[in-house]
Amino acid sequence: MAEKFKITYATLAADNPQMHADYEQGIELAKSWLGADFPFYVNGEARTGEQFEEERSPIDHDILIGRFARATEKDVEDAVAAARAGAQAWAARPWQERSQILRRAAESISDHIYELSALVAMEVGKNRLEALGEVEEAADLVRYYCRVMEENNGFSRPMDQLSDTEKTWSVLKPYGVWAVISPFNFPAALSIGPSGGALVTGNTVVLKPSEQGYLIALKLYELMIEAGVPKEAFHVLTGQGEIVGAALANHPGVDGMTFTGSFEVGFNLNKSFAKDHPKPIITEMGGKNPTIVSANADLDKAADGVLRSSFGYTGQKCSACSRVLVERSAFDDFVALLVDKTNKLTVGDPLRKEVYMGPVIFEESVKRFENAVAEAKTNGKVLVGGDVITEGPMARGNFVQPTVVEVPRDSFVWRKELFVPLVAVSRVDSLDEAMNDANDTEYGLTAGFYSEHRSEIDWFLDRIHAGVVYVNRRAGATTGAWPGVQPFGGWKGSGSSGKAGGGLYYVQLFMREQSQTIVED
Ligand code: NAD
Repeated sequence: MAEKFKITYATLAADNPQMHADYEQGIELAKSWLGADFPFYVNGEARTGEQFEEERSPIDHDILIGRFARATEKDVEDAVAAARAGAQAWAARPWQERSQILRRAAESISDHIYELSALVAMEVGKNRLEALGEVEEAADLVRYYCRVMEENNGFSRPMDQLSDTEKTWSVLKPYGVWAVISPFNFPAALSIGPSGGALVTGNTVVLKPSEQGYLIALKLYELMIEAGVPKEAFHVLTGQGEIVGAALANHPGVDGMTFTGSFEVGFNLNKSFAKDHPKPIITEMGGKNPTIVSANADLDKAADGVLRSSFGYTGQKCSACSRVLVERSAFDDFVALLVDKTNKLTVGDPLRKEVYMGPVIFEESVKRFENAVAEAKTNGKVLVGGDVITEGPMARGNFVQPTVVEVPRDSFVWRKELFVPLVAVSRVDSLDEAMNDANDTEYGLTAGFYSEHRSEIDWFLDRIHAGVVYVNRRAGATTGAWPGVQPFGGWKGSGSSGKAGGGLYYVQLFMREQSQTIVED
């Protein structure tokens, strides 16, 4: 492959011919992987579980990603037992060695970026640059967690002394066995990011990826093992969430867990995870992310930012913008710009270079889209889009139009996370009214604001209840966080730990503190 080109979500407009040529080759390689029967891995052993389940591409249901072995409860037992057996040795390795191995794994992920991102595109329908961005993000999350360990000298440091003979150290140590359950929408970054965080801090990991994201998780598992993560330290189980995920979450031998996914599943896990004694669980959940547009905003910037955050990855980012509150005097101009830009988006096969928006993930998502549009038609109006695409090759996939609606703010369209490319707009009489509504939600993941007045920006930053906030960002009103740049985590119903992935305080969540006092008379 040619000279490396650093990809982030901020380079999404990049037009680099070499990158596209490499990606085309990556598509061919990734296609050659599809359609086979795939095992999962316990202690490095390939297992076939009780039966195989099919995974198909949302781009075209005729494309079989593969048939994946469904793990049984016995496999969960064995994986946890193997992870327990391996925990002591992995924790005892100097953190510098673990960091070196994980940095090697991150390099290997970056080296295989083209075929891995083409696979992400086929499995979950991301466009080219979003898929490339995600795979590099997966590698950068791992690198960033290694860096935090390094910058903190493995989190071992001397404390104050009360006498000359007594010395105390504060040491952070791993919990033991860590389960990672990941969602479909970032099947690379949210499998490998949390797994990397747990591993570099000395935990052993059992990963349960999304049912729509099995193959990328298995490919990343292989790269991690090849890079030197011991097979005793990392295990991957494919299978249904309600069965394999639940068995893992309920297992007393699991010491800690990271779940990323819906509020419905995550909050239940939050309540049920600890059984006999307290155990740490990090849950990263949904969002209903607002953008506020002031009358003093640069409206073109605001419309671009909202467009990208509402329709980037087909509205299926947890950080997607799904509601926009616009000051009344700016409303018509803002909406005209947003509608015009929406009309220009290309929808289609996301493997094609020129396509901006691919399919939604499930047929169920198409139904959710149809229900939301029906509600907008009854109680509000559809400003652009609104149709399911049933013509041509797109009829074989889950394609809908990017859609802007105006609905009353007590409508479910305004309040529920829908995870489809549909954004609702509403006019407000004051910024205070906008802020009250923006915060009036069970979620608190991301939020955006547009104003050219510094005092309004400070006002926004003082009041908004969300973990990740952006001001005047054309590249994305509410989306596009990058490891080490924008720590990413939710408040309220969007996240349980109050600390953010890709941020300064994240790897500490995978460890517990031990205060070690030694007396030397
Ligand atoms: P989901 O909750 O349906 O599934 C997530 C994972 O949980 C999957 O691996 C699934 O198999 C598993 N699972 C399902 N039921 C389970 C159970 N009873 N016990 C244990 N595991 C179970 O979510 P999804 O549809 O894959 O992902 C979309 C959701 O994830 C959205 O709500 C989105 O906002 C959220 N998300 C949040 C973040 C964040 O950082 N806050 C990031 C990405 C996605």
